[in-house]
Amino acid sequence: MVDIAGNIAKVHERMEMAEERAGREAGSVKLMLAAKYQPIENLLAALKAGERLLGHNMIQQLKTAEEGLTAAQADGRAAAAGVADIAHTTTVIGHVQSNKLSQAMRYAQRIDTVDSLKTAQQIARRQQARIEAGEARPGEAFPILLQVNSSGAPTQFGCEPNQLIEMAAEIARTLPLVSIRGLMTIGANEPDDSAAVIRSFEITRQLGTQLRALPGLAHATELSMGMTHDLELAIEHGSTEIRIGTAIFGPRPQK
Ligand SMILES: *Cc1c(COP(=O)(O)O)cnc(C)c1O
Repeated sequence: MVDIAGNIAKVHERMEMAEERAGREAGSVKLMLAAKYQPIENLLAALKAGERLLGHNMIQQLKTAEEGLTAAQADGRAAAAGVADIAHTTTVIGHVQSNKLSQAMRYAQRIDTVDSLKTAQQIARRQQARIEAGEARPGEAFPILLQVNSSGAPTQFGCEPNQLIEMAAEIARTLPLVSIRGLMTIGANEPDDSAAVIRSFEITRQLGTQLRALPGLAHATELSMGMTHDLELAIEHGSTEIRIGTAIFGPRPQK
C-alpha cells in the first residue's frame, strides 16, 4: 500500500524548503497531482489529504476519473473514504488530439498543453459551441496554458521558444474565447544534468515575463513546471505550480 497522505505531506515539506531557499512565501507554489493510471481510491485519498488540483494526461482517463469521482460522491464511497465533498479542479497536462478537445473541455477546467494557433482556434470554436449550448456563460473564455518546448528535445511537444510570443500575441488578439493564463513546460529530462534542467526553466521564466508584457496578458502569471525529480529546481527558478505523480502515488502501474 502506498501512503498517499504521507507522501503528500513529504512533497509539501520539499516545496516549503525550496520556497524558503528561493526567498518565496511558504505555501505560495501550488501542487497539482499528476493522476495518470490512478484508480479512484487513490484520487479519493489525495482529496482526503486536502489536495484539490488534479492533472490528467489522457482524455480517456480524465473522463473515467471525473465520472468515477462523481459516482463515488453519489453512492457514498467518497464519504466512506472520508471525503465529504469531492469538489476539485481538473487540468489537462497531456497532448490533446483535436477529436478529443470537446471531451477535454467538458471534463477539465483548463488545458495546459496548447502549442499552436490552430489548437487555440479549435478551443475557441468549441467554446463558442459550448456557450450556444448553455454549457458556458456568454462571453466566457476557456482557460489555457501555452506549452513551451524548453528543452529543445525533438520528442517533446510544445511551441518553440522563439515562436511562442508571436503565437501568444496572435491568440490574445484574435481569440477572445480563449484565456491565456501562463506557460507550461516539461523541461530537460536529464536528472543528472541540473544545468540543462535549470536552462529549460529559465527559458520558460523569461518567456513568461515577455508574455505578461503583451496587451491584455498582465495576469498570465502561471508557470507550470517541476515534477518529482526536479521540483526544487523548478521552485527556485520561478515555478508557480508543480505537477507531481511518482512522489505521491509511487511508480506508475504499467498499462
Ligand atoms: C506524469 C507527468 C507528471 C508527473 O511526473 P512525475 O515525475 O511522476 O512526478 C508531470 N507532468 C506531466 C505532463 C506528466 O505527464
